[in-house]
Amino acid sequence: MIAALPPPKNIDEDKVIFPMAEPSNVTRALRSGIGTDTSAGAVIPPIHLSTTYTFAGFNEPRPHDYARAANPTRELLADAIVTLEGGAGGVVCGSGMGAIATVLLAMLKVGDSIAIPHDCYGGSWRLFHRLAERGGFTVHTLDFTQTEESIAAVTELAPTVVWLETPSNPLLRITDLAPIIAAAKAVGAKTVVDNTFLTPILQQPLALGADIVVHSTTKYLNGHSDVIGGAVVAADAVDAEMCDFWAKTAGTMGNAFDSWMVLRGMRTLPIRMRAHEAGAAAVAAALADHPDVLAVHYPGLPDHPSHEIAARQQAGFGGMVSFELAGELQVRSFIDGLQCFSLAESLGGTESLISHPITMTHASMSPDALAKAGLTDGLLRLSVGLEDPADLIADLLEGLERAAG
Ligand SMILES: *Cc1c(COP(=O)(O)O)cnc(C)c1O
Repeated sequence: MIAALPPPKNIDEDKVIFPMAEPSNVTRALRSGIGTDTSAGAVIPPIHLSTTYTFAGFNEPRPHDYARAANPTRELLADAIVTLEGGAGGVVCGSGMGAIATVLLAMLKVGDSIAIPHDCYGGSWRLFHRLAERGGFTVHTLDFTQTEESIAAVTELAPTVVWLETPSNPLLRITDLAPIIAAAKAVGAKTVVDNTFLTPILQQPLALGADIVVHSTTKYLNGHSDVIGGAVVAADAVDAEMCDFWAKTAGTMGNAFDSWMVLRGMRTLPIRMRAHEAGAAAVAAALADHPDVLAVHYPGLPDHPSHEIAARQQAGFGGMVSFELAGELQVRSFIDGLQCFSLAESLGGTESLISHPITMTHASMSPDALAKAGLTDGLLRLSVGLEDPADLIADLLEGLERAAG
């Protein structure tokens, strides 16, 4: 929880805004872990590296005994993410996949079923299918961007869990969360939303009725491309308890140092997200205007097929943009020579990245599956960083000139 601010002095009663009943998410993120140290009064919390804790005396355990079960630094980060998402509780994990595996351990048993997006994160897709192949549970893949069809399918299948991810990767397709979550609830299914791409600053699935949110904190929450981490947040205290239980039982929880790093990253999350978004909007507009660009996928563009839904359910359009060139030949000369974009997987860091999905993140998909998902060999994905947008645009325009040969 955030430390209470002192009441101001000599104020006009009519204009009283303090003490703050409900600080904004910006203030909450900025105060993550600040002023929580009781040992020395450190403004920035210390990192608790100890793996074990003394008992106060014979048969007198303290709140912490062994760091796999509970760690004060990890708890500060969990509190910060839970507060931003508006959940009842949660747990910090060692990676985004660790968080996703923790949710599966907590929610699915033999004979259950899960409905997942046909274009969900590749790692999630692999985990769901490989586990299902062992006979654990059934996987149904749906195109959740088709709202009416999805509602009908969820109603008919009545799965144990409905797994959602919006915007999707790499085409930035949007799922209309509220009606699909309502349909899931109506058949007793739990809904999990992977909120990695937008963070709680730009989208709050629990407020739209979701039961659980998962994050790869590796991306925007840490924001500096130097930690692998994840988190689970649950709307309900019992679900949160189950996820925490499985994280400590299976050992999928995060470590103290990484938790501290992510806590530091989160203090700039609101301003980073706004800057990522401003850069992405400028880049998307510049690409959309260019005759050699076949298509631009960015939910902030008015002609994006789900622009209206994104504008309604999100507080911003985010920092990811994808676009299409004519083919692989153009892609090669476009990428060779870029100054401000590093050719690399992942996203959400301060630096701009470019990736070619079909030879990188989505290389394991069959040509058939690629075609079905709409991934062409000219498709490129950008994680727009915090560099000057004018430089990013100049770099991209030069690349388009090279690609035109
Ligand atoms: C990266 C990512 C993950 C997996 O997270 P890791 O931290 O790499 O384990 C899951 N979901 C989405 C949407 C991601 O982008």
